Amino acid sequence: MPEFLSDELKSLRDRVASLATGELAAVRDATDLAAGDAAARVRAASKAAGVYALTQTEGVSELTLLVVRETLARHGVSHLPGLFGAGAGLLEGVGEPLRSSHLLPMLAGDKRVGFAFTEPAGVPRSTWARVEGDELVITGQKSYVTAGADVAFLTALVEVEGQGPSMVIIDTDRPGVTVTRRFTSIDGSHHAAFRFEDVRVPRHHAIGAPGDGRGRALAKISAVRRAIAADCVGTAGWIIEQVAAGLRRERRGGALGDHERARLRYGEMRIAAYAARSAVYRTARLVDAGIDAVNESIAAKVIATETANTLADSAVQLLGGESLVVGHPLEATYRRLRVLRLAEGETDTLRVNAARGHLDLGKGSI
Ligand SMILES: Cc1cc2nc3c(=O)[nH]c(=O)nc-3n(C[C@H](O)[C@H](O)[C@H](O)COP(=O)(O)OP(=O)(O)OC[C@H]3O[C@@H](n4cnc5c(N)ncnc54)[C@H](O)[C@@H]3O)c2cc1C
Repeated sequence: MPEFLSDELKSLRDRVASLATGELAAVRDATDLAAGDAAARVRAASKAAGVYALTQTEGVSELTLLVVRETLARHGVSHLPGLFGAGAGLLEGVGEPLRSSHLLPMLAGDKRVGFAFTEPAGVPRSTWARVEGDELVITGQKSYVTAGADVAFLTALVEVEGQGPSMVIIDTDRPGVTVTRRFTSIDGSHHAAFRFEDVRVPRHHAIGAPGDGRGRALAKISAVRRAIAADCVGTAGWIIEQVAAGLRRERRGGALGDHERARLRYGEMRIAAYAARSAVYRTARLVDAGIDAVNESIAAKVIATETANTLADSAVQLLGGESLVVGHPLEATYRRLRVLRLAEGETDTLRVNAARGHLDLGKGSI
């Protein structure tokens, strides 16, 4: 539950709220800022407020991250670039030489990484590698890598012969790596598709134990799912505030909020947001208690993303055509939220995974 936060967390929440309503709101509302300048201003402000490094610091609790992400979203600034430093993610705990060649430059912001998991539908074989001496020779395709065209390396799920699925680091400047497509999704984020033709990488670029690629990827994906869920419950709160303001606004014949049918919808929105927020906070507390919360993270992501999308849709319906004019804050939020029902696990696939978690694996408390 979001209540009963420690004094320390309440004070962090207040600090983040000041950051959001101050410099971050100014960056968001500026129409004349180039994308790079906006990111640099956000990064500087986030660093000064002690927010930027939270995702890079070991031992930061899940509840802390949730409070920060939710607060940013509640103030309509969670989409800004440069808020958080890149975390170790899949590279957590790697030894030398990968620590110096990839992990540290990534944490310093000198090298960007892309997550290469999804493959085009209908390809006859997953991305795979044969072992030749001290090298892996990789062949295959990845269809949807966020920021792919700008990254220095990929962490890619690769079926390594005789070893099983592994997460492998592939530098994007290696011979045989081709960007086959660059594209933009409706939220404005950029992506790339890749082809690998006999790409040679050192064998030690396979991270972790042989064959643990899916498990390693899943741990990372679970954390990202919770981050998305935190953003969505915060955004749900922001949407509700927009609607409340709209309902109170005087119009011909009285405020919209005087009408029973608008109140019914508004009440429904508040109840749905309450349920989603409760689930997301409960999940964070389970993680902090050291409980394996893969299934609960799935549930939190599904509930939060579906709820936020439903709320955005209801908000547009209640506030009318003006909220669909390009440039209106709700219009951009509507587009941004839509991708989250697919990214990091499509909702129906996650429902099926939750069923498997219980029926086949006997895991979790949902
Ligand atoms: C904004 C955005 C950013 C993304 N970033 C990345 C990224 O950085 N890295 C990355 O690897 N991927 C990324 N993705 C891809 C994302 O993970 C996939 O789009 C998502 O997992 C769904 O996979 P898919 O698109 O291949 O659709 P599919 O898996 O083909 O799913 C399409 C439909 O088929 C259904 N379906 C799937 N399998 C079955 C089955 N066995 N039986 C019955 N029905 C089935 C699903 O439920 C769904 O309704 C991103 C996607 C978006 C939208």
